[in-house]
Amino acid sequence: PTPLAEHGPARIVAMCNQKGGVGKTTSTINLGAALAEYGRRVLLVDFDPQGALSVGLGVNPMELDLTVYNLLMERGLTADEVLLKTAVPGMDLLPSNIDLSAAEVQLVSEVARESALARALKPLLNDYDYIIIDCQPSLGLLTVNALTAAHSVIVPLECEFFALRGVALLTETIEKVCERLNPELRLDGILATMYDSRTVHSREVLARVVEAFGEHVFHTVIGRTVRFPETTVAGEPITTYASNSVGAAAYRQLAREVLARCPVE
Ligand code: ADP
Ligand code: MG
Repeated sequence: PTPLAEHGPARIVAMCNQKGGVGKTTSTINLGAALAEYGRRVLLVDFDPQGALSVGLGVNPMELDLTVYNLLMERGLTADEVLLKTAVPGMDLLPSNIDLSAAEVQLVSEVARESALARALKPLLNDYDYIIIDCQPSLGLLTVNALTAAHSVIVPLECEFFALRGVALLTETIEKVCERLNPELRLDGILATMYDSRTVHSREVLARVVEAFGEHVFHTVIGRTVRFPETTVAGEPITTYASNSVGAAAYRQLAREVLARCPVE
């Protein structure tokens, strides 16, 4: 990928699937780190009260004074008060912890409750090339906020038998947000994760996903490997933890696909 002379405005990508354990957080960290390796400025937004993205980048959510929750709910607080640098040059984090679960309830009574995150991210747009939002496993108000803020969605799908279950509900939600709140929102792609080429089963699921979504499916397929759980313990992306691994290469390939599919103008 060509180096950039200037940065921003950012493309905002929501990493979204209401199913847990499909690779949203892993893909957010590693796609972000790979894009940063290619010279892009990247902001990762932990938008799951579980704080797994923060943990995966070596941050202890319990020790945070300010999180994305404060940025959403407190007028006058600026993002640089909440932002954390990560060990990856060019990649920052808006961390979160269990406080964020209160936002889901508190936002309900707010005016324009669906666009709280979009408002919070607006002042940051010119500082980054990509902002990736790690969504929680639900289609509730937090996820609707992420979809309202985003230009596009990446949907990680685990290559398992029930992978396609629930995807109709997800695409319906995306369509509704597109109609009512964010007409620019589009589906960047479906990302097949936890693929095991040794099993017929994995290959069948992948074939079915391609049949259902055609060119929306990224050519990059993320294989199943224990290196990913290891990186969570290490608190760093696979691109630095095991730079020469197959997993690191896969997320670099995904980054190149993302750069080609949705270039920052
Ligand atoms: P989500 O954010 O969708 O809940 P995670 O990214 O947290 O999913 O992944 C769930 C679990 O699976 C984590 O323990 C993670 O380390 C592991 N994992 C993610 N991707 C892979 C993969 N390609 N191969 C093996 N394990 C993976
Ligand atoms: Mg997660």
